[in-house]
Amino acid sequence: MDAELHRLVESFARSGGNLLVVTGEGVAEECGVASFRTDPRPFGYRGKSYEVRELMTSELFEQAPEAVWAWHLWRLEEVRRGQPGLVHQAAARAAERLGDRLRVVTECVDGLHRRCQHPAEGLFEPQGNLFFMRCAEGCTPALYPVPEALLGRTAHQPLTATEMALLRCPACGGPTRPHILWRDESYDEPFYGVNSVLETARRSELLVMAGFSGHTNLANKVAWEITHNHRARIVDINPEPNPVAALARRIGGLAYRESPSGLLPSILEAFVAAAG
Ligand SMILES: [Zn+2]
Repeated sequence: MDAELHRLVESFARSGGNLLVVTGEGVAEECGVASFRTDPRPFGYRGKSYEVRELMTSELFEQAPEAVWAWHLWRLEEVRRGQPGLVHQAAARAAERLGDRLRVVTECVDGLHRRCQHPAEGLFEPQGNLFFMRCAEGCTPALYPVPEALLGRTAHQPLTATEMALLRCPACGGPTRPHILWRDESYDEPFYGVNSVLETARRSELLVMAGFSGHTNLANKVAWEITHNHRARIVDINPEPNPVAALARRIGGLAYRESPSGLLPSILEAFVAAAG
């Protein structure tokens, strides 16, 4: 970490400011979890072929829920092969020390922060989480873990009637759906915590964007929300170009073309040390 970044982190930590970390697809990729969004492979199911962009819609779920579930369960298998990395571990350690002075928002649905025992109250998953399902009719806001009997499936394996029966809402017996914000849906508070995320952004003075893809709207909004506070600063860490780097520099923050796992753990450690 360079001296300028060290000074910035220390000054916010000492002055009692809150730290907000956004982890993005770049962080997941370092853990072997590839983005869905850019996956060009069509998905074949029971003789039909679907594009990824349509599989991530409530429109297709209404027409072909079984195919949509089969694809999400296969993606869950791909995600399960990834392991939490240095960023997830460092964030969980810092959360234990910093309590409500640290909040983490992830644009990933891979559940890697939860798998690293990140305290639930300090974590927002506004795009959803592949490990969970919920009532498709919305009878309750409760999230249910995807049943273990449905883990370990291969890509195009048809779901049996017994397996489909496991995908029923425990509260009303109706169908469940993956707990994922689909492309034709909007953020809301009950399922995705949109208001809580924006409120957290307003209460934070240092925002670290780590491996942000630039493609999820809420993470973009978080960065803009922060700029309303003239004291707030953004640190962007990303080997790839992304829109937040220029914004960070414009408001007196810093941007690094580096891997998140190379820099974010030391930022968190420096913040914890200076926060005392
Ligand atoms: Zn229900």
